[in-house]
This record gives sequence, C-alpha cells and structure tokens, in this order.
Amino acid sequence: MDFALSEDQRILRDEITRFAENELNDDIAERDRGQTFSREQWDKCAEMGLAGLPVPEQYGGSGLDGLTTAIALEALGYGCRDGGLVFSLCAHLLACTVPIWKHGSDELKERYLPGLCAGTTIAVNAMTETTSGSDAFNMACRAVKDGNGYRINGTKIMSTNGPIADIVITYSQTDPEKGAYGGLTGFVLDAKTEGIRTDQKFEKMGLRTSMLGEVVFEDAYAPEEAMIGKVGGGTAIFTQSMEWERTLIAAAHLGTMRRLLEDCIAYARTRVSGEHTIGKHQAVSHKIVDMKIRLEAARNLTYCSAWNLDRSRTSAMASSMTKVFVSEALVQTALDAVQIHGGHGFLTETGVERILRDSIGGTLYSGTNEVQRNIVAGWLGL
Ligand SMILES: Cc1cc2nc3c(=O)[nH]c(=O)nc-3n(C[C@H](O)[C@H](O)[C@H](O)COP(=O)(O)OP(=O)(O)OC[C@H]3O[C@@H](n4cnc5c(N)ncnc54)[C@H](O)[C@@H]3O)c2cc1C
Repeated sequence: MDFALSEDQRILRDEITRFAENELNDDIAERDRGQTFSREQWDKCAEMGLAGLPVPEQYGGSGLDGLTTAIALEALGYGCRDGGLVFSLCAHLLACTVPIWKHGSDELKERYLPGLCAGTTIAVNAMTETTSGSDAFNMACRAVKDGNGYRINGTKIMSTNGPIADIVITYSQTDPEKGAYGGLTGFVLDAKTEGIRTDQKFEKMGLRTSMLGEVVFEDAYAPEEAMIGKVGGGTAIFTQSMEWERTLIAAAHLGTMRRLLEDCIAYARTRVSGEHTIGKHQAVSHKIVDMKIRLEAARNLTYCSAWNLDRSRTSAMASSMTKVFVSEALVQTALDAVQIHGGHGFLTETGVERILRDSIGGTLYSGTNEVQRNIVAGWLGL
C-alpha cells in the first residue's frame, strides 16, 4: 500500500481545504447555540461535489475511490470548523447514498442518486429505535405485505437529518421469525409519503448544527420498487453502509485533529507563563507530541481501512478498529486542547470546547465503541 498523495489528490485536498476555510466558518458559535442547520452551507458543500464523492459520475457523483474520498473528507474536517455540518453531510453520503448506489435497482439509482449527489435531496438513515440501539437488528418496526408492496409501522429515533430530510432510508422486519438473517429489509421512501412523520427534533450536547429527530411510520405504504436490494437482505446492506460510515467519518476526524494540533502548537508558542512560552513546559509539549502521535497512527489506520473499502468484500474489522481508535483519539485530543488553552479553552469564544462536545458523539453513533470492540473480538475468534 502506497499512501503518498498523487498530484490529483493533492489538488483536491487543497481545493476543499480552501473552500471550507473560506465558505463554511461563519457564525458557528451562534448556530451551535441556536441548534441551527445551515442550508446555505449545505448547498455550497454540494456544489463542491462533497455530497457524492464516491458515487459514479453517471449519477452525478465524482467517482472517487475510497482512499481519495477519505482524503477529501479529511480536508473538509480540517477546513470546516462546523462539526455538525460535516457530520450531517457524512451521514447523508455514507449511511444513505452508499446503500442506494451499492444495492438499489437501476430505477432507484436513477430516481434518487442525482438529487442526493447535488444535495437538492437530503436523506436520513432511520434505524435506531427506543428499544433497539446497539441491538439494532432486534427492531420492533414491521413491514407487512400489502398487495404489491408493504405497510410499514414503527418509530425510529435519533435519526440524523430526520427533521430536514426529503427521503428516508429505513430498515424493517419483513419476516420476524428469521430476524437479522433474512428477516430485515431496506426501503427508500419520500419523507412526504402519507403515514411518515419527521417533525420531532432532539436537543443534544454536541453536533448541534446537525439535526437529529424521530421518523414515525404509521401504515406508510412502500411499493415493491422502494425496496433496496432483495427482501430479507437488509442486514447486509445496513452493515456495509456502517462500514463506509465508520471509516469515512473517521477521515473527517483526522482533519479536526490536525487543526487542533496546529492551533495548540500556535497557542503554545505564543502564550507566555512566567518567563517562558507554555510550549517550553514539558507538561504542555508532551500533550502536543501525543496529539501528533495519535494523528499519525489514526491516519494510517483510516487510510488503510478506506483503501480496503473498494477492494474487499468486508471491511468489518478494519472499519470497527478505525472507528474506535480515531473517535477516542479525537476525544483525547480535544480534551488536551482545552487543557492547553487553560481557562480560555473553557470559553465558547475559542471554539475548542465545542469540538470536545462534538467529539463525544463519535464514540456513540455508527454503533457504540463497545459494540465495535465486540465486532473485532468476533473476528479474533473470541
Ligand atoms: C449524534 C448521534 C447521531 C445518530 N444518528 C443516527 C442515525 O442517523 N440513524 C440511526 O438510526 N441512529 C443514529 N444514532 C443512534 C445510535 O446509532 C445509537 O445511539 C447507538 O447505536 C447506541 O444505541 P443506544 O443509544 O440505544 O444505546 P444502548 O444500546 O442502550 O447502549 C447503552 C450502553 O450499553 C452498551 N452496550 C449495549 N449493548 C452492548 C453489548 N452487546 N456489549 C457491550 N456494551 C453494550 C453501549 O455500548 C452503551 O454504552 C445516532 C446517535 C447519536 C449520538
């Protein structure tokens, strides 16, 4: 594996970084306080091609491989200080667009992918329920055969982009006796379908510019054509989408960690305490060195996992290891960044505390880190 960036990858990285730094960083503290999603900035990201990075060009995407997609998202995470916007975009692309691209019928791909890649259609992945989060496949939501389609009933919670979504990707029990192995099916439906409600909005500690809500199905009708893949094939489709999400959200985290590292170096070189700049205190410099080591290790793991996405039938172990390591590295780096900034790090105006709040979500969404460790343990035969 050679992860030296090609000329094209370098140009792409620099263009996205410049774009994000110039266009995406206004009023973040205000939007964070008000829990406001910026449609304007979403549209700008889409115009940059960020909503369809790996999707084939024939459907409006950029046709990038997994590694180049990671490099692009790392640049976005580096240049954009709005963690909620980056997360919303990643959820849309990885948990929603990827399963349609990988498993949808030609008709579904033609109907949905151009709008998803252009960002004119926003998608939500509705999986989690009140009684099934980590135990995701043990869901209560049912899709019962009705004529040529299905009637869906159930309530999905904590769904990213739910309150602003135009389409819903969801998974239901079509054969409860079979459960996870053959009993779950994926569907894609317009959010305005009769019997679907997406109006609930949850308040949360971080990622506050990303909207999180409920998706309620009350006898919502899904025609057979709305099925993603085959009946009973939902578990494999959802699992693959999570492998993409675990790997490539980590890529965006790399960018955030690099920015924190650079901000801390700059602060430690200029902030004076006593006769020295604080960077001369070993207690501070060692924290910064650890940030650097974590970033380099995280990047290797993430690039390896991203490279694997296009090459292997399963990226389960690599994506779970990446997700655990990088999300925890980000939390530790954000904690250290607050400490290095002293009391100023605790103030909203420096923006460091917001990154710490945002970082916690990474240990929970796409499956908690405990569940990721279970997956790796399984691959190790434990
Ligand atoms: C910011 C954010 C965005 C999200 N976006 C989405 C989304 O777009 N779509 C969606 O469907 N869901 C989404 N979720 C929900 C997320 O996937 C779930 O919160 C997560 O899977 C955990 O489920 P739970 O909250 O029910 O916790 P639980 O499953 O109740 O877990 C509680 C605790 O027990 C531990 N635990 C549970 N089972 C095990 C086990 N077998 N072994 C070891 N430990 C275990 C967990 O690790 C956790 O610490 C989002 C969550 C967050 C925080």
